[in-house]
Amino acid sequence: MTRVVLLGGGYVTLHAYATLVRRLGGAVRRGELEIVVVSADHAHRFHGFTGELIAGVVRRDRLATPLAEAMPLARIILGRATGVDTDRRTVSFRRGDDAPIEHLSYDELVVGTGAKEPTAEVAGLRRYGHTLRGPDEISALADHLTTVPGGPVVVAGGGVAGAELAAAVADRGHGVTLVHSGDHIMGEWDDQPRLVARGAAELAERGVTVRTGVRLVEVTPTTAHLSDGSVLATGTVVAATGQRPVRIPGLDRWRDEHGRLRTHRTLAVTPGVWAAGDAARVAHPVTRRPVPANALWAIKGGDHIGRSVARALRGRRATHFGYRGLGRAASFGFGDGISELYGIPFTGAVAWLLRLVFFLRFMPSRARAAGVVADLARSASVPRTARRATAARVGAPAPEGA
Ligand SMILES: Cc1cc2nc3c(=O)[nH]c(=O)nc-3n(C[C@H](O)[C@H](O)[C@H](O)COP(=O)(O)OP(=O)(O)OC[C@H]3O[C@@H](n4cnc5c(N)ncnc54)[C@H](O)[C@@H]3O)c2cc1C
Repeated sequence: MTRVVLLGGGYVTLHAYATLVRRLGGAVRRGELEIVVVSADHAHRFHGFTGELIAGVVRRDRLATPLAEAMPLARIILGRATGVDTDRRTVSFRRGDDAPIEHLSYDELVVGTGAKEPTAEVAGLRRYGHTLRGPDEISALADHLTTVPGGPVVVAGGGVAGAELAAAVADRGHGVTLVHSGDHIMGEWDDQPRLVARGAAELAERGVTVRTGVRLVEVTPTTAHLSDGSVLATGTVVAATGQRPVRIPGLDRWRDEHGRLRTHRTLAVTPGVWAAGDAARVAHPVTRRPVPANALWAIKGGDHIGRSVARALRGRRATHFGYRGLGRAASFGFGDGISELYGIPFTGAVAWLLRLVFFLRFMPSRARAAGVVADLARSASVPRTARRATAARVGAPAPEGA
């Protein structure tokens, strides 16, 4: 039997799976082709509505789709990949920290293990702070915020994700300081200065203090220490400090200076290994510059890999990745946002609606997408001040898969 192994349960592998099944689903059903997913998380996390979850507008169970539901024809292994042997075409993994290492052979391997915050670079962050990429970490932050109503919060990292998060936390009534090592926030959007200015204005309107030119260096249970020697009193530090690609041993010779797996135009790393998303360096088909690390590019990369793997299994040559981009979007509270579509900037309600349509389209579960719409419709009838007051209640845990 032929076996395709997908590492990770994020956007890349979900879309590689879907495309592969569209092309070779018959072979999977007949037992000629096995798709195995090795993922450290049992669910696919839809990060797009993180701000809405934190602000208590969208229920958390809408944003987690169990992999068994999202990839029903695949064998799911809940475990962490620990190595790849590209000569023998095997992957090693553990089902738990103390579990023995197991091995799995593959014919084609898709690496979609994404990235994580560099917690080791900030003393105390792993122990006392919050990160957002691991299983249930966003929900853990939402739970924590309910225990410190109105308390001061430090968000480290002034990229778009950090700025959105700061706004969402402020919408819950917390005093927020956004700490950023660069000289201005939202640098990924520098080609759209009007939108960056609008983002900064949204933060100012919510009373978010923005500290630029300093970095978070230490976290204790009651303080955040910054590189300029200042100390902020807070029991809540959240890291949105950029990302480091997850490194799976055995693939190091193909990494770039940022730890991303270098990919060819086909998205192959080396024969039999494919990569995209936050773990990979994918060149834009026209500019040849690395594409941004965001969900859209991970999704499109995954789609392309699914097609390429199907072609490889049929003995055909892989084609080049040709996707040129669409746009990007960010939200600053209910009904307000910034977005860019094919280079055209939008702000306010139009931008927010564009983002909503775009994100709903890419949610892996139609039922959950409908649930998000229901949550937003419910929220629309509540004034912003009342919304803040009910944030903790709406954001309370709901059973996963509900
Ligand atoms: C809080 C937050 C908000 C965001 N908001 C937006 C947004 O609004 N718009 C946007 O476009 N992008 C957004 N992003 C970025 C977007 O989520 C990522 O670019 C996207 O998830 C990358 O997809 P991926 O498939 O490469 O990795 P991921 O979706 O991160 O998936 C990685 C998978 O690999 C698993 N994994 C990790 N290590 C291992 C291992 N060793 N073995 C097995 N499995 C492993 C993980 O558990 C996970 O299932 C946001 C990210 C965050 C954290």
